Amino acid sequence: MVRKPAWLLHILAVMTLLALFLPDSQVLAAPVALLTVKSSSGAAYESRLAVDASRLVKSIHAARARRTEQNLKGSETGNAPVFDTYLKLSSSGAGSEEIYLLNRRGDLYEEATHQLLPLDAKTGAYLKEQAGRLRTMHYGAIHPWPHASTLLPKMTKFTITDLETGLSFQAQHRAGRQHADVQPLTKADTAVMKQIYNGVWSWERRAVLVQAGDGQRLAASMAGMPHGGDGIPGNDFSGHFCLHFLGSTTHGSAQVDLEHQLMVRKAGGALDDYFGRAGAEEVAAAYVAAIHLRDSQLLKLSFGSLRHPQLEETMRWMHGLAAIRPSKNQPVQSGSINGNGLLALDFPIQVELTRKERKPEHTTLMFRLRRLSPIDSWHIESVDKRS
Ligand SMILES: [Zn+2]
Repeated sequence: MVRKPAWLLHILAVMTLLALFLPDSQVLAAPVALLTVKSSSGAAYESRLAVDASRLVKSIHAARARRTEQNLKGSETGNAPVFDTYLKLSSSGAGSEEIYLLNRRGDLYEEATHQLLPLDAKTGAYLKEQAGRLRTMHYGAIHPWPHASTLLPKMTKFTITDLETGLSFQAQHRAGRQHADVQPLTKADTAVMKQIYNGVWSWERRAVLVQAGDGQRLAASMAGMPHGGDGIPGNDFSGHFCLHFLGSTTHGSAQVDLEHQLMVRKAGGALDDYFGRAGAEEVAAAYVAAIHLRDSQLLKLSFGSLRHPQLEETMRWMHGLAAIRPSKNQPVQSGSINGNGLLALDFPIQVELTRKERKPEHTTLMFRLRRLSPIDSWHIESVDKRS
């Protein structure tokens, strides 16, 4: 009789046990549901929160059944997702993973099919509440400049965190009246700031979080260009950079800078709210700012939909541009045209547009904006370059 060696018996025993228990453990592996907030789909900096998976799985199944019955399609406006909050459902046993975006009501939006899954009211409210908690943790508090300046008096040192990359550095408030003029503390801090700007100083505005002394994190916007007075020698940064808060104005013109203000709202998680209330011209101006800043999130919000026919084309176009700004000499549009109950508006914006390695050119963008009703928000229906 041939005896099987002991090690072979062990292996056989383990394989038998695996065969017996693996299917069961697959069934028993509980699904995991994670909410994620990040300021753009490519952002490295994100916040996560585990939520009640079994409740969501049940509610999603019921919503799918209802949708099939009614052949319900996710409509665009009003149901459009907020573009920074995701729900990921995964089951390690089954090896499956589903990713949804949330909309303002707490319903789920399936990106692959562009369909809406309206959850039952209680589960929707639960998800909305959890998402609200997570957004508060992720974003900064928006304070108007007069108040922000009291939280960060001159000579205060604080940490600045870039909302997209999650990189942080130390800086000091040195001067400034309508915004903070700030300097990186050390050479190492300057190096991190330059890394945030991909190694090239620029006036590009970026959404940042500022850690105030009282434990609050404030929403702000920085520009990455050293200029003017330098109070910290030896930090590899010749001059200061500007840090804007809500309502801050620029040095010379005492004007509120739209791109800074949009980035402050981005840092505060309030872009969705801004677009919800914005007039037609503000949405169009935000579109121009989105292209200048190459900010996909802003662009999606100005179109109000992930399946707008011009979205992909505009994404490609903006990466070939060096700059786009509203022309200085154009007549300022009156804001009053928003209040008269119109549902569609056409108007031009003259822009100075610079393609990479080319000279600036002046051109006119023709905008058509629409809203479903006078209480709905405006979004861009089409933009065409007038030649
Ligand atoms: Zn400044």
